[in-house]
Amino acid sequence: MTHPDDHTLLRRAIALAAEARAHGNPPFGSLLAGPDGTVLAEAYNTTLTDKDITAHPELKLGKWAARELDAATAAHTTMYTSCQPCEMCRTVIQQAGLRRVVFALSDDQLLDIRPSSGRPPVPQDGPALLEEVRAVVEPYYR
Ligand SMILES: [Zn+2]
Repeated sequence: MTHPDDHTLLRRAIALAAEARAHGNPPFGSLLAGPDGTVLAEAYNTTLTDKDITAHPELKLGKWAARELDAATAAHTTMYTSCQPCEMCRTVIQQAGLRRVVFALSDDQLLDIRPSSGRPPVPQDGPALLEEVRAVVEPYYR
């Protein structure tokens, strides 16, 4: 549930989405705010101009938080984003340890506007060569 205080920062995320569009990219924008609402970082989608399929603003901010903030500070940040983060970005947000995400447009609402990519899931085959891979992975965690 969003609060009226959230709407100011959400409007800034929507403005960043418009900025992305104005720069020739898909219209998605996000920002990261501290507990008092101070904007710590902003980003918008640059997938087309950077020719980088991962250049989503949420992913950029998650990486920024993991690199620039200590864990305790990251755990008190809120991401405001024009659209609900995709699966890739949700994983990065989780890994970065952010406190909360506030979005304007949901996944389902976006699908009403833009059809899905239609790409089927990529098949994954495994596990295999368990002893060989364990010999490499296990020592790291012991
Ligand atoms: Zn994403």
